[in-house]
Amino acid sequence: FRLIPVVGQLNNNRSRFANAAPSAEIVAQFLSRKNKPIMSNGQQPYHRIQEGIRFENVSFAYPGSQDKVLDDINLWVPKGKTVALVGSSGAGKSTLVDLVPRYYDPIEGRITLDGIDLKDFNMYDLRRAMGVVSQDTFLFNNTIAYNISYGKEDATPEEIIMAAKRANAYDFIMELSNGFDTDIGDRGVMLSGGQRQRIAIARALLRDPDILILDEATSALDTVSERLVQEAIDELCRDRTTLVIAHRLSTVQQAYKIAVMEKGRIIEFGDHEELLALNGQYANLHAMQFGKKKSKKVVLPTNAAL
Ligand code: ADP
Ligand code: MG
Repeated sequence: FRLIPVVGQLNNNRSRFANAAPSAEIVAQFLSRKNKPIMSNGQQPYHRIQEGIRFENVSFAYPGSQDKVLDDINLWVPKGKTVALVGSSGAGKSTLVDLVPRYYDPIEGRITLDGIDLKDFNMYDLRRAMGVVSQDTFLFNNTIAYNISYGKEDATPEEIIMAAKRANAYDFIMELSNGFDTDIGDRGVMLSGGQRQRIAIARALLRDPDILILDEATSALDTVSERLVQEAIDELCRDRTTLVIAHRLSTVQQAYKIAVMEKGRIIEFGDHEELLALNGQYANLHAMQFGKKKSKKVVLPTNAAL
């Protein structure tokens, strides 16, 4: 299994191994998962996604536990579309998305890409095709340019600038003392939360992954940052096969489908309007998270007496 040796090589001579570089997120996530079992690795080379990703009767329990954290999940993410996951904390959203880059494998059922079991793919290729943008994206104590280009070390300055522009990060970068050459503090402490998110999005845009896994940050941003981050996320997800753990209203409103999770199961599925009309768990979550006082009335069915 190659990830660990590759990380070592990267530290010694990054540019030589540019083509083998996994994304920073994937390395960071991998390194943070200590006790994971060794996994099988397939031979199938990765090809660009043609149809989509399908969860087929997928169940999962963490190693050493009997509790099913995912219980008979069926989910279809078509090529180029965004499927959003919502649900209360502990419902299984993060676990579900972690199965796609194979941080864990299902204990029952399977996940396929264009009908081929993920386990049959070369895992390294598979992970290179995926971008993971999480709440705590790893930023290095290095320059802005370095942080954006991480995972694509052969990026040209023009590509880095373009990614920054598309991520709504260019303007604030140009206001920094040394622009793209500005050193950001350890783990990006001198940037605001919204700025860090836009750097992470610029990095993902530059890598242009076939499949995107996005865990939206829950932290509240001021209105301007919120709009800039949302636009950047829209740009990142557009026409890309995306599984997003959604905390933003506009993300769920724009999603192709929303899966509402509870206790490891998908309990409601549909688009925003369909789920509001169901007046079930989604409507409840929606009212709690985004509701103005009026919204409860708005979602009540007119024929409530029936
Ligand atoms: P969500 O992202 O919806 O908040 P998670 O997927 O993080 O939910 O968690 C689902 C369940 O799995 C929770 O009960 C959580 O405690 C448990 N869980 C999460 N990670 C681990 C782990 N590494 N080992 C054991 N249990 C875990
Ligand atoms: Mg989570």
